[in-house]
Amino acid sequence: MQNPFATAQAQLDEAAALLQLDPSTHEFLRWPMREYHFRIPVRMDDGKVKVFQGFRVQYNDARGPAKGGIRWHPEETVDTVRALAAWMTWKTAVVDIPLGGGKGGVICNPKEMSMGEKERLARGFVRQISNVIGPDRDVPAPDVYTDGQIMAWMMDEYEATQGKHQAGVITGKPLQVGGVAGRDDATARGGMVTLRECAAALGVNLGSATAAVQGYGNAGQHAHRLLEEMFGTTVVAASDSKGGVYNPNGLAFADLAAHKKATGSVVGFAGAQAVSNEALLELDVTVLLPSALENVITEANAGRIKAKVSAELANGPTTPEADRILHEKGVYVIPDFLCNAGGVTVSWMEQVQNAGLDKWDRDRVTAKLDGIMTAAFHAVHDVRAARSVHTRLAAYLVSVERVAEACRLRGWI
Ligand code: GLU
Repeated sequence: MQNPFATAQAQLDEAAALLQLDPSTHEFLRWPMREYHFRIPVRMDDGKVKVFQGFRVQYNDARGPAKGGIRWHPEETVDTVRALAAWMTWKTAVVDIPLGGGKGGVICNPKEMSMGEKERLARGFVRQISNVIGPDRDVPAPDVYTDGQIMAWMMDEYEATQGKHQAGVITGKPLQVGGVAGRDDATARGGMVTLRECAAALGVNLGSATAAVQGYGNAGQHAHRLLEEMFGTTVVAASDSKGGVYNPNGLAFADLAAHKKATGSVVGFAGAQAVSNEALLELDVTVLLPSALENVITEANAGRIKAKVSAELANGPTTPEADRILHEKGVYVIPDFLCNAGGVTVSWMEQVQNAGLDKWDRDRVTAKLDGIMTAAFHAVHDVRAARSVHTRLAAYLVSVERVAEACRLRGWI
């Protein structure tokens, strides 16, 4: 399995060479500025204490407080967290919001934990890092297998350490405790804006297009709904960690989401045939939406991808070798840190709302998100055309230049 941090560094190296970045800046941007490794003892429901390993990486905060989610995953590693923290740095830069990049993780399997165990883990995580996070230092958020409830516990624990309200310490909170309207589907909605702009640039009609959604978590499910609502695109396949379903005539969002809610998986959905996660990626569809985890499109399968556009709602789904193969085949990749930047963009609105004790409505959030994502897509698309590079490299050129400039202006380099 490809090490995601090696991927992140290789991507940066390619951009640094094209930008003729000076060696000190390049070296500085290859590694996190700070990282914290800690052990979290949690009393489990059986009375025994289990010790979990946690990480928080503050990759770069030259442009503003570090920002990025917390993943709870049994296969979490520090290198995955480093890579994701690097990608957050490029993500906040590509949408040009005044934040840096960070990421957190815990090695655990939340699917096997009770609500009480999850709450104690969430609170224990915050106690370990309460001195180094905060609205003006580093602001976590949800990511794989963490949600609004976990954010609410974490906020509450942080506030207890500070003795005051500090809702802006974390984003992705439920609405009643300082969350912002529209954060729930922001990642998918931002991705849809980039897809709309991409389709217009390529002359693709999304109304008569087909799509396959790999990963049916927060991003994937909202993407299915928004593809139907915004464009009338026919989603023919969807999958999750247990398997996938395919129907060439289309899968209705309302029915599939209800099935997933009732059974915990898309598998077994009536009126569709089974398809493996691997086969789903190679279906003859217009748009592929990798919306799960890293390293699913590699040099082993990239040559068989038939989609015109790959809209990466997941972080890190495509390896550098696969990027080159897809580019040569003419597949337009909307790269992860551009395509899925809607989540952090609306998180930033949540931070601004919290800082002003304000309350933003959904229309205001959606309109601002649309403007930011549209501008970010075109900034990258223009560099892609001007420098004849693939889209991920173009996005790197935009972001790395912005972060490097901030480091220079601060006198760090
Ligand atoms: N975890 C999301 C991401 O990878 C959101 C991060 C945030 O809102 O800070 O972009």
